[in-house]
Amino acid sequence: ANLVAGKLGVVTGAGSGIGKHIAQTLARHGASVLVVDIQEQHAKETAELLAKENSKGKFIAFAADVSQRDEIDNLQKYFVKDFAKQSPDFLVNSAGITRDAFLIKMSDQQYDDVLNVNLKSIYMLNQSFARLAIEFQKPQSIVNISSIVGKTGNIGQCNYAASKAGVVGFSKSAAKELARYNIRVNCIIPGFIKTPMTEKIPEKVLEKICKSIPLNRMGHPDEIANAALFLCSDLSSYMTGAMVEVTGGL
Ligand code: NAD
Repeated sequence: ANLVAGKLGVVTGAGSGIGKHIAQTLARHGASVLVVDIQEQHAKETAELLAKENSKGKFIAFAADVSQRDEIDNLQKYFVKDFAKQSPDFLVNSAGITRDAFLIKMSDQQYDDVLNVNLKSIYMLNQSFARLAIEFQKPQSIVNISSIVGKTGNIGQCNYAASKAGVVGFSKSAAKELARYNIRVNCIIPGFIKTPMTEKIPEKVLEKICKSIPLNRMGHPDEIANAALFLCSDLSSYMTGAMVEVTGGL
């Protein structure tokens, strides 16, 4: 079924991993997607893949660093002037980074980089595109990608855990503020998913992680994408401020 047929929107971090699979899944279900990534070449590859896989829909790559206010402004302007002539039906924020270090060795740069890319970007993107939805008086579904690490903590990831816990508090507050405009804000909380981000984890550590997961395996990015599809579609029309855990039971 085409769960998001004719809908238009933005996916950030869509050059790789979870964001790429979310863009692919939304496109397969009939959506047009503006494919955003800091890696221009990767964004282009995703946009080309979507165009190859789908006869209907518009798929354009847009290079932007989502931690920069001026680049968010340009992205918002491009979306409304060139891509869609209206506000997006959905915004999925999957761009994210890790800069792992033990707290006692962590640099301010490592801390600030992770907070800016993973959390400040969420503030700026939610704000920028909510403003557009209000201007166009159109409903909108925003999906922010958090992480189970924001709830559990993780060695070497004080910065990352802080950013991802921040995404939860931010999203719950934005959901309450924006509900009156029919803008829904929900979070997906992934567990451990096979992507380039988790490729760096040593084999032995991965084995240990898998043993702690009730479903006994890492997740596939499509399993996050299916949750994003649901949240972007009208099937979730009565959900806002929800935290959807997709963790294999963690
Ligand atoms: P990934 O590294 O495969 O993809 C992240 C993408 O974001 C990359 O294409 C990267 O170029 C892009 N990006 C990074 N900084 C950017 C910036 N400043 N502006 C624009 N784009 C930028 O990682 P992934 O595993 O697909 O992660 C996607 C999201 O899911 C992240 O927010 C991550 O924290 C979250 N997450 C991942 C896992 C996991 O196990 N893989 C678990 C929980 C949460």
